[in-house]
Amino acid sequence: MKKTLYTLLILFCTQQVWAQDIDKIITKDYVDRLIKTLSSDDMQGRGTFTPGIDKAASLIESEFKKIGLEPLDGEKTYRQTFFKDSTDKRPLFNVAGMIRGKSKAAEIVVFSGHYDHLGIIKGNDTDSIANGADDDASGTTAMIALAKYYKKLNNNERTLIFVAFTAEEIGGFGAKYFSKKLNPDDVVAMFNIEMIGKESKFGKNAAFITGYDKSDFGKILQKNLAGSPFTFHPDPYPRQNLFYRSDNATLAALGVPAHTISTDQIDKDELYHTVKDEYETLDTDNILSTIKSIAKSAITIVKGTDTPTRIPRLIE
Ligand SMILES: [Zn+2]
Repeated sequence: MKKTLYTLLILFCTQQVWAQDIDKIITKDYVDRLIKTLSSDDMQGRGTFTPGIDKAASLIESEFKKIGLEPLDGEKTYRQTFFKDSTDKRPLFNVAGMIRGKSKAAEIVVFSGHYDHLGIIKGNDTDSIANGADDDASGTTAMIALAKYYKKLNNNERTLIFVAFTAEEIGGFGAKYFSKKLNPDDVVAMFNIEMIGKESKFGKNAAFITGYDKSDFGKILQKNLAGSPFTFHPDPYPRQNLFYRSDNATLAALGVPAHTISTDQIDKDELYHTVKDEYETLDTDNILSTIKSIAKSAITIVKGTDTPTRIPRLIE
């Protein structure tokens, strides 16, 4: 009895320390400021090839620098510059940084969100900027906050790559280029975060994972949240083909357990791809709890004690 009480006390204390740390590192102010800035009118909807997306890239670079990420191997800066095809002369750029793994550096875990959006579109009388606050300033913010958290935690045995993809909305070009720059066999998991700005179909403290049954990624995440009120669910919109509609699809086709985490009620989200996807419509407490839950749920994959099963390869 005494021993049990003592064990419980230790467990309680370690959980308290854990909770305290994450609350200090991923704060509401931090998350709020990033989403607000990325979705501000100043960034003009972050359209690919526009000055607005350049501003967004600069912001992400400055955050990566403050956090202390390294550029990827073989790169001098965080910008991974490329072209859409051989005839297009306009540069595109992902923004990517990493925290090298301690004992399993060759094994990579990717955290991503796309930072491009639709730019200026046909709106209404007063607005034509597609701010993309939910899509995907929310996911980009989550990716940055996770980088900040794991850098402070400093216990990743695997190498963690954090990447803001460009040109998702015009065909996933950023993710395609990124996947060619590494060996997909080295990537043990990908957490792509897309639209976590509003309450999910399952209520608060819940998100869904696309392609849930294609690997045991979701089960691992859920196991790590035991005792927490947050739950991950299989994608409730299978007809929408969301697994193949975001940046996880490229690496998933190459066999990587690459999944997208989202809370969007896509079947009735009237703000989706309109000028009304603005900061004011977001539930920032829900975003904060989702980010923290991703941080906790990924921990055994980050530390190298859990490895999700591979997804059957579609492309050789
Ligand atoms: Zn999106």
